[in-house]
Amino acid sequence: MQKIPLGSTSLHCSRLAYGCWRIARVGAEAADFATARRAVLAAVDAGYTLFDHADIYCDGHAETAFGAVLRETPSLRDRIVIATKCGIRFSDQPSGAPYRYDLSRDHIVQSCEQSLRRLGIETIDLYQLHRPDWLMDAAEVAGAFSELTQAGKVREFGVSNFLPAQVALLQQALPAPLAVNQIEISLLQLGALSDGALEQCQAAKITPLAWSPLGGGLLADGAVDILDAQKAYEPAAVVSALDAMARARGTTRTALALAWLLRHPAGIVPIIGSTDPARIRTAVAATEIQISREEWYSLLTVARGVPLP
Ligand code: NAP
Repeated sequence: MQKIPLGSTSLHCSRLAYGCWRIARVGAEAADFATARRAVLAAVDAGYTLFDHADIYCDGHAETAFGAVLRETPSLRDRIVIATKCGIRFSDQPSGAPYRYDLSRDHIVQSCEQSLRRLGIETIDLYQLHRPDWLMDAAEVAGAFSELTQAGKVREFGVSNFLPAQVALLQQALPAPLAVNQIEISLLQLGALSDGALEQCQAAKITPLAWSPLGGGLLADGAVDILDAQKAYEPAAVVSALDAMARARGTTRTALALAWLLRHPAGIVPIIGSTDPARIRTAVAATEIQISREEWYSLLTVARGVPLP
């Protein structure tokens, strides 16, 4: 698969990334390893080089299962870019602390150390702040990043779900450019096309990573486990437009939905979340499809549900 630079860093990543959110389930550690091994090896064979995690994916089990795959095949480590995230905290009992976001220095540093342990690696290639924290102190985050860099624990940093003003606030406190902003972008979630996120990515050479590029499965063969906000999506019209275009072009609906993202000049990298080796492989077909301006706009118009102004 073609590779592109990650932001303005020296790291490169495949045109499609692989997302590890679904490779594990709480309470199913043995099954996790088998699922993770099958999915990760299929993704590596198909040319994916960026693997995305978060400390909270399956309460840490996704990182642990991935770490077990790396221990079994240590040669993988130098061939891939390992990304993970911190900043979301679940409610704690019995303290009563609520579900919250925490970009304090202590939480960032401690989460990083725990992720390194679970993954069984010395350095995280790309460390992302999972969600903006309204109580974030940009200078404090900059301090945490520089501690982690100096300790050799992290190579590059990025953010996720940050609005342009939040990226700008953090960036002005950092000595090095942020590499990525990981945001939800798909034909079912068009927010990044109008909130300035993609323009900021282009202007600042930040790579946009697209999470749930198939709407969590709603644009594919079905959604197994989607986020609450995605339950409100109405995929029927987009699915039928994609199917008609796929028939005309002799390709698949999912390949076209991904190719629609790849066509954007910001260099969007869709993060593929399937755990099915065949689906992981067939998604790569998207990278061979050139969508015309007319096709791109006709899908956009259906996705918007109302004509362009
Ligand atoms: P997605 O690709 O939109 O959805 C994947 C889901 O669709 C899987 O459950 C998959 O099931 C199903 N699916 C059904 N048919 C499929 C087909 N033909 N091809 C591919 N998938 C098909 O992405 P996602 O899993 O929601 O998210 C991808 C990644 O984004 C995650 O792994 C994570 O790394 C990242 N993420 C980040 C955030 C954030 O806040 N930063 C939030 C959510 C996700 P099967 O496994 O059975 O194929």
